[in-house]
Amino acid sequence: MTDTTKQELKAFSVQADEYGCIVFAKSGIVARRQGANELDTEFSMIESCRRVPALDKYAGVKGGVPWKVLVEEHDWSQECPYCCRRVSNDEPDRVWNDTASQVYCDVECQARQEDVERTWTAEALAKSSNQRNKEVV
Ligand SMILES: [Zn+2]
Repeated sequence: MTDTTKQELKAFSVQADEYGCIVFAKSGIVARRQGANELDTEFSMIESCRRVPALDKYAGVKGGVPWKVLVEEHDWSQECPYCCRRVSNDEPDRVWNDTASQVYCDVECQARQEDVERTWTAEALAKSSNQRNKEVV
């Protein structure tokens, strides 16, 4: 593919069994493939891939669609990093981090998670920040 300009890219919501993502592509089939890649799953495992015109404006935006927009305006849920519960916009006590990239069930989970992260940072400054890495003991 050549000369993909930002204007031509459309937003698609690609959903697999457990997780989903927003990808920007010219067509549904490309979006589906890209989504499978991003979700680290097989093409055939993608359950749905649908256009979300309201999110087209985020094409080419660094970091993509903010999680806060997805959860608050598009009924997505995000896992609380501390207790792993899915948090959606009907969670009355939910709180967002400063960059609107992470939601927590409540201030308590946020405080606990920040403690955990402080410990991690201290222990693993030199390590990769790739969350998919697993520690081999
Ligand atoms: Zn939580």
